[in-house]
Amino acid sequence: MDLPVDEWKSYIFQKWSLLPKSIQDTISTADTLRDIFLHSSSLLQPEDEMFLRSLSRGYLVGKEPNAPPFYREEGNKKFQKKDYMGATVLYSKGISHARPHSADISLCYANRSAALFYLDEYEMCLKDITRAQMHGYPESLQPKVTLRKVECLVTLGRLQEAGQTIRDLESNFAAKPSLAAAQFQILQRNLCRLKMKVQERENLTASFPATLTKAFEDMDLREENEQIPGASSSVSLCMDPLKGRYLIATKDILPGELLVKEDAFVSVLNPGERPPLHHGLESKWDTRVTNGDLYCHRCLRHTLATVPCDGCSYAKYCSHECMQQAWDLYHNRECPLGGLLLTLGIFCHIALRSTLLARFEDASEVIRKLCVEMSNKDMCSPESENLVQTPSSDPGGESEINGKTVKTPVPGCDLNGKYENNYNAVFHLMPHTENHSPEYKFLCAVSVSALCRQLEAADSSKPATVPPAWRSELRAWGVAMLKHMLQLQCNAQAVTSIQRPGSKENSVTNSRQVRLATGIFPVVSLLNHSCSPNTSVSFISTVATIRASEKIGKGQEILHCYGPHRSRMAVAERRQKLRSQYFFDCGCPACQKEKHRAAVGPRWEAFCCDRCRAPLQGGDVLSCGSTSCTESVSRDHLISRLQDLQQQVGQARKLLTSGQLERAIQLLLGCRHDAESFLSAEHSMVGEMEDALAQAYAALGDWQKSATHLQKSLQVVEVQHGPSSVEMGHELFKLAQLFFNGFAIPEALNTIQRAEKVLMVHYGPCNDEIQELQKMKSCLLDSPPISLGPSV
Ligand SMILES: [Zn+2]
Ligand SMILES: [Zn+2]
Ligand SMILES: [Zn+2]
Ligand SMILES: [Zn+2]
Repeated sequence: MDLPVDEWKSYIFQKWSLLPKSIQDTISTADTLRDIFLHSSSLLQPEDEMFLRSLSRGYLVGKEPNAPPFYREEGNKKFQKKDYMGATVLYSKGISHARPHSADISLCYANRSAALFYLDEYEMCLKDITRAQMHGYPESLQPKVTLRKVECLVTLGRLQEAGQTIRDLESNFAAKPSLAAAQFQILQRNLCRLKMKVQERENLTASFPATLTKAFEDMDLREENEQIPGASSSVSLCMDPLKGRYLIATKDILPGELLVKEDAFVSVLNPGERPPLHHGLESKWDTRVTNGDLYCHRCLRHTLATVPCDGCSYAKYCSHECMQQAWDLYHNRECPLGGLLLTLGIFCHIALRSTLLARFEDASEVIRKLCVEMSNKDMCSPESENLVQTPSSDPGGESEINGKTVKTPVPGCDLNGKYENNYNAVFHLMPHTENHSPEYKFLCAVSVSALCRQLEAADSSKPATVPPAWRSELRAWGVAMLKHMLQLQCNAQAVTSIQRPGSKENSVTNSRQVRLATGIFPVVSLLNHSCSPNTSVSFISTVATIRASEKIGKGQEILHCYGPHRSRMAVAERRQKLRSQYFFDCGCPACQKEKHRAAVGPRWEAFCCDRCRAPLQGGDVLSCGSTSCTESVSRDHLISRLQDLQQQVGQARKLLTSGQLERAIQLLLGCRHDAESFLSAEHSMVGEMEDALAQAYAALGDWQKSATHLQKSLQVVEVQHGPSSVEMGHELFKLAQLFFNGFAIPEALNTIQRAEKVLMVHYGPCNDEIQELQKMKSCLLDSPPISLGPSV
């Protein structure tokens, strides 16, 4: 999804392989990005563009007139089955395809408001009712949605507004007496019921708002770094010819301390795994739920009530404000290019959006820099980027360094040595031009140049909306985009979120980390990698926060993990990945330590002896480590048994989701028994089985059994990821939920405390799970010890 779709990739690689050797050499040995771009661009033929367009057309990104009724119908089916979440998403899809101010769009909004109402999302429901009315909801259906509106207002305790709405409704009815009587009665009955509900709620008002405000205050950096806004004053920027830029601690740092808080310079929502739908297929419309249906395309917030762009169906937002901002900043240019951008991949999209955003900074400065770039022969080497040359024709003319060459201390910093989240910093991230393969550079250059031509074509159709500077400098922007594309392989930051699918009550939810978007964070980019990092990164909306995950001594380097973490990947695999993607040999302590004892794998991958349970050792043939035992077995045999188990556990998970709990448990217990004969008790596969068993028992309502199994899974997680890892935090959270649901009060309080402690270090106080833990805690502390059974 980062790179262009496979069809385009293999098409371009083929094209490359058919180029005469002399042309390949010219591009391979070109010493500037400008030359790479211009040579590759000149090879882009009309038939290539035609092929690319045919691929782009596979994505339905426009408004499809037949889609809204289809999705509304499908949504209604889900609604009838009481799957309100599913219905909401389908109505949203319908909305995204409907034209503004059409019956389609207003009906979809109204239906979505009903689904949201049943999901207890009253604020969102109210907004959708307003939207339905704004887009011309039929007069005859008005009483229905108005009634819903009153219900929402009353539930939210906004009684005055509710009263006003009722009076408006009454006077409306007075004008049309035929409707009145029956409607009034329903209204009155509902009103009575709802008023009682409000009174109950008023008695329950908790003190959460206060804790929330405090939480957001804690989200701020205690003391901001003067040189690097967005970083804490506990760190400092250093530069080393070998390591490049990096951050060190200027004082002792405690676990949980916030070190960086940075909003993405640019981010692009990952649309989700969605292969293009090909023409003439039976299934016309896609009913699958993707990231694009659930998260705002600009701010990445989760939302069930998206508002689509007026011009396309693929860009959806959390609010009208977000839509407008995105439109002004970049979407006005991106809107007609949806299919193309999906075909060319996220990196290309980020490259375009970065240059579009650059226009809002000092544009003349940016263009000047690009012109330097265009003429600079040595721009691939990082040293040359330190030089900021000020040509005498500088349109600003106020520069104090007129005509002189000034060397800034660290690339990406301004003349005062300040490093900020801006285009200048993004521009100076390393493209590693010399490390990428010639084919890859060709693919990027041709893709960018195809994008530029489509932009040009779009511009010439509406010249009035395009700033003249952009048009004349399009080629310079093309070079800049190529640079960004090459930078992204090493500098793209995945924006992740913890997703807890359909958190049904009374069951252990299986949270998983999902990749929401890809972005560029110039300050976060200053951190070097370690396979066993001393920080932890998390995201709220488009803001990244980095916290110390352990004690960091004064003078120590601040490190984060680029992906290959020691608890998730073996040393050889990790080092290979870091070399091929990030172009360096990892020298982190974990790698140093593990490099020399590669023969014995980690405990969570260990096989053990069937007879005496001692760990097995060796290469293709494994033998028992115990001296008194002579057992030996082939590795291939054990691997095939492991694969077999994996398959069965997968099957058990399917049974679990389809509600066949007893069968799932039987299968898992069988697997568990099987595993005992050849896997160590700390094998990650064993952990997975225990986790699945815990889920199954929780779904049956057997809290005790569920907790027993979850505690076993917890042990495996602890061995693999460490006692204060974020993975451990999520497991403890699940365990706390179990004890809470099972009214095991002392165990619940104890586990809540442990979970809170671990999660706080990684996420800080405004994390969802921490908020929930606090709610559980205050509920347990406030409620009388016996909450079961009717009181007499
Ligand atoms: Zn938003
Ligand atoms: Zn659009
Ligand atoms: Zn390493
Ligand atoms: Zn043995």
